[in-house]
Amino acid sequence: MPIQILPARLANQIAAGEVVERPASVVKELVENSLDAGATKIEIDIDKGGSRTIRIRDNGQGIPKDELELALSRHATSKISTLDDLEAIASLGFRGEALASISSVSRLTLTSRTESQPEAWSAYAEGRDMQVQLKPAAHPVGTTLEVLDLFFNTPARRKFLRTEKTEFAHIDELLKRIALSRFDVSILLRHNGKLIRQYRASETQAQKERRLAAVCGQGFLQHAVSLELGHGDLRLSGWICTPQGARAQNDLQYCYVNGRMMKDKLINHAIRQAFEGALAPEQYAAYVLFIEVDPHQVDVNVHPAKHEVRFHHARLVHDFIYQGVQSALQQTVVESDIYTAP
Ligand code: ADP
Ligand code: MG
Repeated sequence: MPIQILPARLANQIAAGEVVERPASVVKELVENSLDAGATKIEIDIDKGGSRTIRIRDNGQGIPKDELELALSRHATSKISTLDDLEAIASLGFRGEALASISSVSRLTLTSRTESQPEAWSAYAEGRDMQVQLKPAAHPVGTTLEVLDLFFNTPARRKFLRTEKTEFAHIDELLKRIALSRFDVSILLRHNGKLIRQYRASETQAQKERRLAAVCGQGFLQHAVSLELGHGDLRLSGWICTPQGARAQNDLQYCYVNGRMMKDKLINHAIRQAFEGALAPEQYAAYVLFIEVDPHQVDVNVHPAKHEVRFHHARLVHDFIYQGVQSALQQTVVESDIYTAP
């Protein structure tokens, strides 16, 4: 076969392999877009674990009519335009891949209205054959993304979807992580028409703790101590559980860098090290931690799912987290808590 440029749809479907693994990854991309658009209220409707419908409605700034089609194109983003921007990312998205990828493997409708537009417009793309249809629609200021029949045109991937229950559990877990990252945003989740979660926007410490308990359980809250400290440009805040709140699994470990959920080796190592000696070998720490760092000092463009980061001063960040968690633990741990090997 001679070398040829791939048709746009096929190229998007290949790219979709990286961002869209399952319904929960679609929800992640869409909710992050809503947050980037300044939404304070996000409603998520799921049917059949997301394999039938994923609908996300927000009250963010909306997309102007003449940008709707562009929003669905690959490498189209309003979030960065220069290398400088790329080196100091403040938004959750920046690749301009998600909508193009999702629309290439689903039947997608994008409906949106901006403040300055008297009416809303809808863009529909099926399997993304590049021609997008625009139609007038009814919608308040904000955006609704509806994704139907995920992977309908990529049967090999559709086959990999698990049961409705499992896929929904992934979505629920993802939204817990997001709910913890933005206490100021109200988030509603329905499955097959039934209200499953309602995270109300919270401002006061008491309201925040209510959300914390809703996500992590009352037991977490009971054993949680809050921490807040800074060092130069670095800030560490959140909650850690004393050893009495330790878990048999690593299911309550939430960590964010500049509002982005992370599964980062360096950070996990620092936290594990801080808990060393306080937990029995079969116990896991429980925590919700937020790390804030100057966006110039961290590279988020290292992993397609953006789960990992690269800190320019890795050692410094590691030690800061380690010391912060360790000292918070020490202040609360009484002698009898400390695990001693039998
Ligand atoms: P990225 O988030 O990396 O920019 P996406 O493909 O996810 O790429 O989105 C493309 C563009 O569409 C965004 O840059 C943004 O301008 C616009 N967009 C997507 N979703 C929303 C939304 N819910 N509200 C407002 N604008 C949106
Ligand atoms: Mg995005």
